[in-house]
Amino acid sequence: MDTDLFFPPAGISGERKYELERIAVNICNSCTVIDECLEFAVGNPQLVAAGVWGGKTDDEIQKMQRRRKRRGRRK
Ligand code: SF4
Repeated sequence: MDTDLFFPPAGISGERKYELERIAVNICNSCTVIDECLEFAVGNPQLVAAGVWGGKTDDEIQKMQRRRKRRGRRK
């Protein structure tokens, strides 16, 4: 499998990055460990800062990480 789909190389951005992400997300959507993969990504911001994980893009994962961090601070 082409890892560039999940981790677009530096220098790839905009429409091309979006295209690669859509292909990766489609692969994730038929993966049997999608929930566990996303949980790992959201729960480990120190390890996961880029790429498609669990059917989500890095932007979406970072939003989820920030949301979780805010919720954690309110407890
Ligand atoms: S859900 Fe995770 S393990 Fe499954 S294809 Fe996507 S990135 Fe790979």
